[in-house]
Amino acid sequence: NSLFQEIPLAPPDVIFNLTATYKADTFAQKVNLGVGAYRDDGGKPWVLPVVKKAEQAIVNDLSLDHEYLPILGLAPFREASIRLILGSDSSAIKEARVTAAQTISGTGANHLGALFLSRFYLKGVPVYVSNPTWANHKPIFNNVGFETRDYAYFNPKNNGLDIDGLLADLKAAPENSIILLHACAHNPTGVDPTKDQWKAIADVIESKKHFPFFDCAYQGFASGDLDRDAWAVRYFVERGFELLVCQSYAKNFGLYGQRAGCLTFVLKNADAAARVSSQLAKLQRAEISNPPAHGARIVNKVLNDPDLYAEWTENLKTMSGRIGNMRKALYDKLIQHKTPGTWEHIINQIGMFSFTGLKASQVKVLKEKYHIYLTDNGRISMAGLSTSNVEYFADAVNYVVR
Ligand code: PMP
Repeated sequence: NSLFQEIPLAPPDVIFNLTATYKADTFAQKVNLGVGAYRDDGGKPWVLPVVKKAEQAIVNDLSLDHEYLPILGLAPFREASIRLILGSDSSAIKEARVTAAQTISGTGANHLGALFLSRFYLKGVPVYVSNPTWANHKPIFNNVGFETRDYAYFNPKNNGLDIDGLLADLKAAPENSIILLHACAHNPTGVDPTKDQWKAIADVIESKKHFPFFDCAYQGFASGDLDRDAWAVRYFVERGFELLVCQSYAKNFGLYGQRAGCLTFVLKNADAAARVSSQLAKLQRAEISNPPAHGARIVNKVLNDPDLYAEWTENLKTMSGRIGNMRKALYDKLIQHKTPGTWEHIINQIGMFSFTGLKASQVKVLKEKYHIYLTDNGRISMAGLSTSNVEYFADAVNYVVR
């Protein structure tokens, strides 16, 4: 018998399992709406043209080697990441009270941020996450010893934001709680607060002395506008909060497997920033020694080259534009069919995902009768829709809700 004979068998990851089932399905018209990765209109992964260019330049650069990066990562990449999320005219940058660590994509940024807070923030505080949230948030915080609790977020009655419930829950939370906020393109609902709602959220967080923990996995990918998608984070910084932001370059650069990300910390003063930075380096050393180089080099090249940067913003518009078109096409088809229910949320929601309002029983029929794969909560990835399957999907939805 093994030493580990008695350990419980863990269930497979729901999303990755869904993709495996989809792949095994031999039906010609099958559709995968589970995957959280961009697909072009042909249903294929898209290497951004600007990424190809940057990568070629890196491969041709004979001065580059495969030495270790510094513990906190590539310095110009970290600096560019800070400017990208905070805006280059941010007072926090001018006052040198920001620090950043290159991380293993957004997941690693969440982990390092959580790990840091578990060591250096007040003890015994809970972490509040939206209900629902990205499936990995709770495990990431639980793994470093935090208790996680829900705050109200999605309102199934109108497929929008339950702002009253949200504010009430943040008010009822014990002072100094950590509040996880999706900076833009909320996953899984696609529902973001308006600017006024963000202001009300900031008011409560301020009055309760909560700590804002931003997760920003979709900057530029959500609206096609890098500044617009960073609005909430910049607003909180302007108001003087100490906070952290997890940045992922998986979606906005299409660098999923390269694991390029950044954890940016905004502090009250430069002294605190230096202290935080030193401890992040110490934690990072024991976890991964130093982050991977290739993806960060690509991002670095694009962020620090005005021509490539301009091209990148166009590539972002291509992705967010196609997703917007699919929202519109799906909405139009459902309206054409006079499908029972209201469907405005499909066009009002933003980013890769949409919470359709479809129930688990309907999802089951979509899977079994139509070979359309999505999670039981009715979330669809807009990136899985294309001009060639959106009609098929709309017809199927029309069938299952009737
Ligand atoms: N946070 C959220 C909300 C996400 O949706 C994702 C991607 N699914 C991530 C973080 C991190 O992804 P990655 O580690 O691939 O950057």
